[in-house]
Amino acid sequence: MTRLTILEYPDPRLRTVAQPVDEVDDALRQLIDDMLETMYASQGIGLAATQVNVHKRLLVLDVSEDQGQPLALINPEIVAREEVCTTQEGCLSVPGIFDDVERAQRIRVRALDRHGEPFEIDAEGLLAVCIQHEMDHLEGKLFVDYLSELKRQRIRKKLEKDRKLRGTERVPERSGVPAI
Ligand code: ZN
Repeated sequence: MTRLTILEYPDPRLRTVAQPVDEVDDALRQLIDDMLETMYASQGIGLAATQVNVHKRLLVLDVSEDQGQPLALINPEIVAREEVCTTQEGCLSVPGIFDDVERAQRIRVRALDRHGEPFEIDAEGLLAVCIQHEMDHLEGKLFVDYLSELKRQRIRKKLEKDRKLRGTERVPERSGVPAI
């Protein structure tokens, strides 16, 4: 397996709208495994293909405590949403930044699994938030887009400063809030 490079805000490639996956083959399964490895190594709970510069409609997640429930969603679609919740979100592409975002509390999602079989899941709470966050990535959208322009400016400045401080090396997150 290979650890992939995660694009960071404000990289313009994060704004790419992903294309549907038309064939679930061994190459795609390899990409899923590499994305899971990259996500776990970065202490994340979700990762969209967009974040590793692959512009296909694919995301991986694992919101379990012990990293024991990997989930891959190919061509995901939200078919129902219920109620609203506000959660503090972070993102592997916006390291060290956390802020409140409003999303649906419960969703039903239709997708293909790693064998190309269609399935549906009912997600709520953190899993529902995580899926919505990752699906935004596939549309070229980031959680900071929900914040004010002033906040986004501050975030861009902070990330620029952090990148200078750490050089090219990626430092792990230092926060109790999981990054998605
Ligand atoms: Zn993210």
